[in-house]
Amino acid sequence: MRILLVEDESAIADTVLYALRAEGFEAVHCLTGGEALREAARVAFDLAVLDIGLPDIGGFALCRELRRGRDLPVIFLTAQNAEADRILGLEIGADDYVTKPFSPRELATRVRVVLRRARGGAAETAAVEDGFVHDLEGKRIRYRGQALDLTRYEYGLLAALLQRPGAVLSRAQLMDRVWGDALDSGDRTVDTHIKTLRAKLRDVAADRDPIRTHRGLGYSLEAS
Ligand code: CA
Repeated sequence: MRILLVEDESAIADTVLYALRAEGFEAVHCLTGGEALREAARVAFDLAVLDIGLPDIGGFALCRELRRGRDLPVIFLTAQNAEADRILGLEIGADDYVTKPFSPRELATRVRVVLRRARGGAAETAAVEDGFVHDLEGKRIRYRGQALDLTRYEYGLLAALLQRPGAVLSRAQLMDRVWGDALDSGDRTVDTHIKTLRAKLRDVAADRDPIRTHRGLGYSLEAS
C-alpha cells in the first residue's frame, strides 16, 4: 500500500512518515501541491494524507486535482476548529480528517481503517450477484436491470444479505447490522421488512424469490 503525504512542515511530516512506515506502508512525502501532482502523475497511490494549509495550492483544491479521473481515498490534516461538515460532506468528500496536533500512530490507524473501507467498497460496488448490482457508495441496488425503490431498512437488509450470498443470517445478526441499537425493534421487525422487500423484488421478477427463509435460523440470499 502506497501512501502520498503532502505536508509543508518537515517536522510533522517526519513523524507521520515514521508512523506510516512502522505500520508497513510505503510512504512518499511531498512538500508542496505541485510536487504532489507531479508525483501522482508518475506513480499510483492507494491513499493521500493532505495538509490543508499548503504554500502553493489549498489542500481542498489539491484533493480535487488528485482525484481527477480516479478513486483516491483522502485524509486531511487540519488546524484546530476543523470544518468537519465541509471536509466530510459532499463539497470536499474526504474520507476522514485529523486535527493538529495529532498522534502519528492515531493517524496511521485511521489510514488503515480508511484503506480497509475503500477496498471493501470497491469490491462491493462492482459486485454483481445473481441479477443484483449493488452500488455501495450511492446506497442503491439494481435488480434485473431495475433500480429498486427501497426504504432505509429494506436497503440495509438486502445489502447485508448481498454481502454474504448463501450464508444464513439470523434475525439477531440482521437486527444488529440494520437497526443497530434502536430500541423499538423486535424479531417481528425483521420479518415485516423482509416481507415488504420480497414484494418489491416480486414486482420486478415474479418468477422467483431470491430470499430464502430458514425456519428457526434466519434468512439467506440464494446464491446462483
Ligand atoms: Ca501547513
